[in-house]
Amino acid sequence: MNDCIFCKIVAGEIPSSKVYEDDQVLAFLDISQTTPGHTLLIPKRHVRNVLEMEADLASTTFSRLPKIARALQKATNAVGMNIINNNEEIAGQTVFHAHIHLVPRYDEKDGIKIEYTEHEPDFEALGKLAAQIANEVEA
Ligand code: AMP
Ligand code: ZN
Repeated sequence: MNDCIFCKIVAGEIPSSKVYEDDQVLAFLDISQTTPGHTLLIPKRHVRNVLEMEADLASTTFSRLPKIARALQKATNAVGMNIINNNEEIAGQTVFHAHIHLVPRYDEKDGIKIEYTEHEPDFEALGKLAAQIANEVEA
């Protein structure tokens, strides 16, 4: 028994406000509507998050982003858009079926803040860290 809420949406067992569907992906309005038009794009196949995605599923899923983003901007007259993906609880993931948030932005005072702490650059440390990561990239 699959308890995944997004799999249930894909199966039509739970209603959703669909904005795009094809054989591989589904996009629907997020119930939280952070801003009007806040949309989620998901692969129909269950996968926990991007950290567990195969390249072909990622290509398929992410390839749909530009046209959905453009449609969303056209329909809402958004000035810009944040496209966000959370992986694991520490990063804010609450539904463990991979999804990409499209959050239209209309106004600087919309209360949304995405902030990253800045550190003084230590170029030696950056070089070491980059080499460590590069070493782990799968062929
Ligand atoms: P995240 O925190 O990145 O895992 O995002 C999960 C998102 O799923 C949240 O923004 C929720 O508002 C949204 N969500 C949860 N249940 C539903 C649902 N039944 N229909 C649409 N969106 C949902
Ligand atoms: Zn699922």
